[in-house]
Amino acid sequence: MNADTKKHLIARVDYYREMGIYDFYRQPVTEAAQMEESIPVVATRSSSPLFDSSLPVIQDKLSALRAISDDIGDCTRCRLHKGRKNIVFGVGNVNADIMFVGEGPGADEDEQGEPFVGRAGQLLNNMIAAMGLKRSDVYIANVVKCRPPGNRTPEKDECETCGPFLLRQIEVIRPKVIVALGAVAAKYLLAINDSMANLRGRWYDFKGSRLVVTYHPAYLLRDPRQKKEAWKDLQMVMKFLGLTVGK
Ligand code: URA
Repeated sequence: MNADTKKHLIARVDYYREMGIYDFYRQPVTEAAQMEESIPVVATRSSSPLFDSSLPVIQDKLSALRAISDDIGDCTRCRLHKGRKNIVFGVGNVNADIMFVGEGPGADEDEQGEPFVGRAGQLLNNMIAAMGLKRSDVYIANVVKCRPPGNRTPEKDECETCGPFLLRQIEVIRPKVIVALGAVAAKYLLAINDSMANLRGRWYDFKGSRLVVTYHPAYLLRDPRQKKEAWKDLQMVMKFLGLTVGK
């Protein structure tokens, strides 16, 4: 086993341990493949193309993202601007296969101007490592780009005001898979008002990308028993992308 594979394997075993899983069994590949086949892709009203063909196509992803950031500017479009230190735009690999979408910045993110750098971010990093990936392999953004006061949940109108910038980021990145972290991201992206229990465990067609819903890392910190469920969601993604340890 090479050093890279070993590192990824250790990260994954650490995440299993965090979930309270200590015993491992071999599973025949055919069984795993059957599981994948049994998960249908749900078409949503978000399935229709996002692209407005009247807009000029900007080929270069970095320039396109910069244009979105410039459009956001020193934003005062909603009340969240009043308490922010930094706009938290998004970070990561512009050619990522996977894009994680959270709800909005917390105190650490507001301070540093980067999504998921606090405690929830540490857990998200572990989840990414358990998938055999590095944080720099994926793209991470939020529905709202300014910190809601006291870390409250963003209001619907705040999501509706800021969310279109996220949709434009998705359009530029064009990830194969979007992982909606928690109910705010899932409900905004899918325009479906349902419980996490109903939203999880299936694929959605999101404007040419596949979308899966899982628990928000902050929720997993409060209820670590659910990490096992989140891991099932991430395994769906890994299976779809053909990710294996060491890849
Ligand atoms: N929670 C989120 O939803 N996003 C962050 O960037 C940090 C915490």
